[in-house]
Amino acid sequence: MEVEQVQTKEQAQQKENKPLLMAGPCSVETREGLLITAEQLKDSGIEYFRAGIWKPRTRPGQFEGVGAKGLKWLNEVKEKYGFKICTEVANFKHVYDALRNNIDMIWIGARTSSNPFAVQEIAESLSGVDIPVWVKNPINPDLGLWIGAIERFKKLGIKNVGAIHRGFSVYQKDKFRNPPKWQIPLGLKKEIPDMPIIVDPSHITGDNKLVSEISQMAFDLAFDGLMVEVHYDPKIAWSDAKQQITPTEFIDMVGNLKFPKSIDIEKNSIDDLSTLRSEIDLLDNEILGLFQSRMEMVKKIGKIKKEKNLTIFQNDRWKEILDRSIALAKSRGLSERFAEQVFKAIHQESIEHQTRIIRD
Ligand code: PEP
Ligand code: MN
Repeated sequence: MEVEQVQTKEQAQQKENKPLLMAGPCSVETREGLLITAEQLKDSGIEYFRAGIWKPRTRPGQFEGVGAKGLKWLNEVKEKYGFKICTEVANFKHVYDALRNNIDMIWIGARTSSNPFAVQEIAESLSGVDIPVWVKNPINPDLGLWIGAIERFKKLGIKNVGAIHRGFSVYQKDKFRNPPKWQIPLGLKKEIPDMPIIVDPSHITGDNKLVSEISQMAFDLAFDGLMVEVHYDPKIAWSDAKQQITPTEFIDMVGNLKFPKSIDIEKNSIDDLSTLRSEIDLLDNEILGLFQSRMEMVKKIGKIKKEKNLTIFQNDRWKEILDRSIALAKSRGLSERFAEQVFKAIHQESIEHQTRIIRD
């Protein structure tokens, strides 16, 4: 794939839909490490070099970023390699530090996008400043909340707003750390067709082996580019070690990705048959993922039944599941017959899985 540096979606389209690429480590760790990653990315074709300075961590006591001193190191990267530099901001103090230190773009992280007060505060602190702002989706799968966060910036006069799709958190992890639920970013594309939307395959997958699969999916669905976490030695990274890829892997991946020129969902109208069909395919894939998670649970229960010497089939429990599912299906406009057939098939499959465990 040929890569060209672009700034806005309009320019991207003029230049035959070349993708917008952003890459860099999850976090700034040391000045030396940052410069090594940047040096190895110098011929990668990226427009933006990304790195987190303030890291929103799930539990206290984890590495929470090097803070404002890292902005100076990012500026060294900018001077030496000519990349634009960007970082995540989560409050107005971060905004002031970023602006004072010539950051070219700021992004709003997924935890912050979920909080309208925080987004509003950041948007107000940018008043009168013309800096591109990219808004990650909120961690919960709520298209309205994502659109609301984007609107807060637009309303306060920020012209250059983009969106970054990074998947949605779930309690039970499946193949992906943050499953992509593609119908949500496709919905965003439909609601705000002029806005560029790029995909962050690193936080979606949580797994360096899956990054290229999701990146290709992003291009197949006509998203405008990628933000990828890249570290010169991922295994020693201070945050998100499992999902980062090396600069060489990034360059190879980009070279192998296909960026289809003709697909343009918003021009051909999102309602056309092929788009709807691809949404159906995505939903079917999600349904299968849920079946897979259900069977994992069933196997755990099978092990307990084996230990405690219980029967696999328990009539009361089966009746309860069937009645509950039929009632729930009806409340969702699905027929009783359909619910019964689906749940009988699921039950049969579950019994087969547990029988294998008990006979093992
Ligand atoms: C990040 O990009 O490093 C980050 C913290 O991402 P997210 O807000 O998507 O979790
Ligand atoms: Mn990260």
